[in-house]
Amino acid sequence: MSDALERFRELLRFPTYSHDGASGGAEASAGFQAALERSFPLVHERLERELVAGRSLLFRWPGADAAAASVLMAHQDVVTVDDPDRWTHPPFDAALVGEGEEAAVWARGALDDKAALAAILEAVESRLAAGFTPRGDVYLAFGHDEESGGTGADAIVTLLADRGVRPWLVIDEGGAVMDALLPGLGPTAVVGVTEKGMMNVELVVETPGVTPPSRCPADRRPCSHAPSSGSRTNPRPRTSSNPRSGSWRRSGRGWAASAAGCCGTRAPSAAPSRGPSPERVRSSRR
Ligand SMILES: [Zn+2]
Repeated sequence: MSDALERFRELLRFPTYSHDGASGGAEASAGFQAALERSFPLVHERLERELVAGRSLLFRWPGADAAAASVLMAHQDVVTVDDPDRWTHPPFDAALVGEGEEAAVWARGALDDKAALAAILEAVESRLAAGFTPRGDVYLAFGHDEESGGTGADAIVTLLADRGVRPWLVIDEGGAVMDALLPGLGPTAVVGVTEKGMMNVELVVETPGVTPPSRCPADRRPCSHAPSSGSRTNPRPRTSSNPRSGSWRRSGRGWAASAAGCCGTRAPSAAPSRGPSPERVRSSRR
């Protein structure tokens, strides 16, 4: 078993909660940072280290010249575990399950986001051991309260800006590899280019449709008047308040077009009239 794997598993055993009311978060955070010092001695010896906003960590790896700085980010904290009994393996045991290429570590924070944090530190530690010096400064920024929407990362940004640091590159955690993210797509690697940004999208779909006749009983479905392609061309817009996935706003007209495709739904307020009408999708970014 590699030393890097064991160092990673040790970090996973600290329940570094940041949510208000979560017990043990401060103690776990202290233990976690002490483990970092033990596991990555060159990082702590040769990089400048400071605590920001309480427990967020900012390291500066001095570069050889005045080339623009870069920032590698990850966060130390994890989401709370409400019911450990529902876990296949205890959330803070960092159990290594399986053999060979099938082997996997099970733990809260294994993906989000201690894998990134450990990978950054392993890379920097090994480069330091090899005598490498980057051209420009490299900052390692490890917030302590990302999962609770805290102030750590904000404080680091403000600190760097006040010092006149304008990085040419910032790398943070991104999206996962997801299955069936969109219809027709297989496994998809989600690349986030502006995490925490917002995009509002308004989708309007117009299709030929009919107003249900008054004799059509309210509970009769499917209705013979429904366009056969209704479910395909009139998707119900999803709504989400998750800023990571953007915000999908339900369009009144789009909803009306969908409702018009079936008896039994409330009468649409703006049902399209009979006749050809091109399908149209409108989007806006703000
Ligand atoms: Zn995360």
